[in-house]
Amino acid sequence: MMGRAMQLVVIGGGTAGWMTAAALSARLAPSGYDIVLIESDAIGTVGVGEATLPQIREFNALIGVDEADFIRACHATFKLGIEFVGWGDGDSRYMHPFGRFGQTIGGTEFIHSWARARDAGWARPLEEYCLAIQAARQNRFAFPAADGGDVRASYDYAYHFDAHLYARYLRGLAESRGVRRIEGRIVDVVRDAEGGAVRSVVLEGDRTIDGDFFIDCSGFRSLLLGDAMQAGWEDWSHWLPCDRAVAVPSDRIDPLPPYTRSTTRSAGWQWRIPLQRRTGNGYVYSSAYIDDDAAVAELLAGLDAPAQAEPKLLRFRAGRRARSWVGNCVAVGLASGFLEPLESTSIHLAQMAIVFLLRLLPDSRSVDPTLAAEFNRLIDVEYERVRDFLILHYHAARRDDTPLWRDCRRMAVPDSLSEKIDRFRRRGYVHDYRDGLFAPPSWQAVFVGQGIEPAGHDRLADRLGADELRAQLEGIAREIDGAAAGMGDHGAAVAAFCGGGA
Ligand SMILES: Cc1cc2nc3c(=O)[nH]c(=O)nc-3n(C[C@H](O)[C@H](O)[C@H](O)COP(=O)(O)OP(=O)(O)OC[C@H]3O[C@@H](n4cnc5c(N)ncnc54)[C@H](O)[C@@H]3O)c2cc1C
Repeated sequence: MMGRAMQLVVIGGGTAGWMTAAALSARLAPSGYDIVLIESDAIGTVGVGEATLPQIREFNALIGVDEADFIRACHATFKLGIEFVGWGDGDSRYMHPFGRFGQTIGGTEFIHSWARARDAGWARPLEEYCLAIQAARQNRFAFPAADGGDVRASYDYAYHFDAHLYARYLRGLAESRGVRRIEGRIVDVVRDAEGGAVRSVVLEGDRTIDGDFFIDCSGFRSLLLGDAMQAGWEDWSHWLPCDRAVAVPSDRIDPLPPYTRSTTRSAGWQWRIPLQRRTGNGYVYSSAYIDDDAAVAELLAGLDAPAQAEPKLLRFRAGRRARSWVGNCVAVGLASGFLEPLESTSIHLAQMAIVFLLRLLPDSRSVDPTLAAEFNRLIDVEYERVRDFLILHYHAARRDDTPLWRDCRRMAVPDSLSEKIDRFRRRGYVHDYRDGLFAPPSWQAVFVGQGIEPAGHDRLADRLGADELRAQLEGIAREIDGAAAGMGDHGAAVAAFCGGGA
């Protein structure tokens, strides 16, 4: 490290910008880095992004967030998974849980024992072997047990929260640790004539902010990576056709569900996200199949409670920057790409970019290109794995009453996904990869929920006699029923953090 502190400039103060500033200020040696964040109140933030994945708890821990404080400040509720309505046959419902199904039997995954029992005619539906699902269906919540052998340790949880309040909360943390916030609209980017590194950004009114390293959190505008550095764009809209959303809050629903809901609509799907004081709703759709007014009408017709405001329209494209790190600029959040919110992965992808950045952050002005190459490799893996999982939902959806759903069934999917579908269909096999989302139970839930069932199972699942296996499966289901019944009401659990006032 040189004598003077390195100047890190975060561009943008949405969820991604403040997550970045909070993490850098929490984890870096204060003497080594000066951190500034530039944002424009006039431009504002995208303002959605209310459902998360369990890994966000690791992020909150990394930056020193107190859970109770966070739940109160961000109007958070607990999330045990996502319920999918209408993605399988007719009005069927299935749940993608943050938890496993059953337990390993005979050294092989539960899905194989379940497939054997199903063939023998005495298996219960797969979701009856999952505690996270049983608890969610009864609107119950309890913190998971620490002991890995206990069925109450078989699940994890995430949050729903108010995105504006989360950004404000992170801002408070970051500013208390020395991050300097600069208000203003960036109108120009100054680059070295030689090498092309960004040297400064120019704000309206001719104020110049110099920096050594820039983190582009400017949202869909992607001021540095997209515009200045021309990082390229990989378009994935032929696989993920939705390109718009209309979002509207509605009154809180009671009892308070500990899960997100995603319901298919004629040209996309509608989310329902339960918060403490309101419910977030939105219709994610493809403008090639429905116009905005019709989408608003379909959204409002599908609400569980009265709307609290006018619907807000958002436009986006499915895809990502070909490179998220170029020269001395790295993109985090929507500036790096967007895969629609069906599985609440966007904040997670920002989180992963921040974690990789902390690991690879340069220690001088001249950036070692191998750092950028490794960052881009890691980000590629994350994006591609999420992409395949999302495409699966569309491609395997059973709904076929409208053109969008018929076209999704017929579309050609990436080879990496067709191989996964094929492997599961034959033998119930899901590769458990080290990096990237999602783990086998997530794939199993979506496959089975949308009608892709394994034709066979591992031979390891044949070892137990039929009676013994049947008894084990019944024992697991009964233990889960008992554990779910022993949990408290989710609304009460949230209220307990808020002095009973949630
Ligand atoms: C319909 C929809 C639903 C979503 N739902 C979820 C979800 O449930 N879960 C999830 O994880 N994610 C979700 N997301 C994604 C999530 O909203 C984003 O990942 C998250 O909000 C991060 O956004 P951001 O900070 O990258 O961008 P933004 O919020 O757009 O912030 C950009 C920042 O850059 C600043 N800026 C831009 N240009 C300039 C300029 N010229 N000068 C100065 N400042 C500038 C803006 O003022 C702002 O502060 C959803 C997204 C959409 C579109």
